[in-house]
Amino acid sequence: MTGPRPKPWIDAIHAYVPGKSAGADGRPLVKLSANENPLGTSPAALLAREHAVVPSLYPDPDSTALRKALGALHGLDPARIVCGTGSGELLAIAAGAFAGPGDEVLYVRYGFSLYDIVARRCGATPVVAPDADYGTDVDALLALVTERTRVVFLANPNNPTGAFLPGGEVARLHAALPGDVLLVIDQAYAEYVAPEDDDGGLALATRAANVLVTRTFSKAYGLAGERVGWGTAAPAIIETMNRIRGPFPLSNSAQAATLAAVEHQEFVEHSRRHNAAERARFAAALGGLANHGIRALPSEANFILVLFEGALTGEAAYNGLAERGYIVRWLPGQGLPQALRITIGTAEQMDEIAAALRDMAQAQGRGGEVRPDKVSLGG
Ligand SMILES: *Cc1c(COP(=O)(O)O)cnc(C)c1O
Repeated sequence: MTGPRPKPWIDAIHAYVPGKSAGADGRPLVKLSANENPLGTSPAALLAREHAVVPSLYPDPDSTALRKALGALHGLDPARIVCGTGSGELLAIAAGAFAGPGDEVLYVRYGFSLYDIVARRCGATPVVAPDADYGTDVDALLALVTERTRVVFLANPNNPTGAFLPGGEVARLHAALPGDVLLVIDQAYAEYVAPEDDDGGLALATRAANVLVTRTFSKAYGLAGERVGWGTAAPAIIETMNRIRGPFPLSNSAQAATLAAVEHQEFVEHSRRHNAAERARFAAALGGLANHGIRALPSEANFILVLFEGALTGEAAYNGLAERGYIVRWLPGQGLPQALRITIGTAEQMDEIAAALRDMAQAQGRGGEVRPDKVSLGG
């Protein structure tokens, strides 16, 4: 007797790999593998969460107060906002609403790993465009648009590379796409981008009939555990997504916490400043390791993708950092065995990681074994 058989396109999916929080031996490690906020959560959000509506009652199915607050903050019509159980859910809903078997979903190589899953989940075919030195190549994307293309995903800044596509390039991509192709601009890290570098995504979503911008509370807002994302697009797109989203996507505590978080922007601002300063300091420290073949890609997000193109390999650096108590993201499964994605943590953590990488690279350069017991942690 055989059991139920999954559809072939579901069978082809490799499950999402979350960032780890422990070493191979189960030892808990400092987690810089999931781009969570090292500063935690705003106290206002924590307090509001405690005073949320009692759990015996269903939450507001439409997250009305939260959408109103987001609309006020970003100058958007709340009717054009949809909330989801993390922005990941909204990406899946968008793909499922506008693509299916026989259709193509397009994105750039080294794009967010969830795009492959949400494309296959609805039976569509993922199409991957070549990158431009780990960045988004608009012409390479456009060259792969066919009459079967239904959805284009653009993470800006991109995860795992940190690459940022300037507003002019986003506008050029949008202008060249057919009007019946949905352009999803995934702005999970938008709060970390310098305000003057805004990619114009929200304005485009307000103007155009085929642009969806998604954002999340998981990163700069420090609320990954509450699972809240939101998106904005033309009314017809929002109406379609509302028809197939979960009936109660946001719990009572999630709505209470995110509402307070939106109303207390000081925490987001503090997170942005901390991240910008530590990201610059870490990049500068890695710049001193260029002669060891270590290269930090430019990043507008809360992480840096570090390439190991010399004697010290990405795998050895990953293992060495784990021995020193740090778990980061090694990405061989995404075609990046030479790279580690390192979340920007506290100043002390970044100092220790930079010192550890320097010591490992120097030990390799001398042709010696890496000896963790002989490596200074810098304090
Ligand atoms: C973290 C991340 C998300 C957000 O995921 P949530 O489901 O909102 O936690 C979306 N897109 C990208 C590119 C991300 O890195």
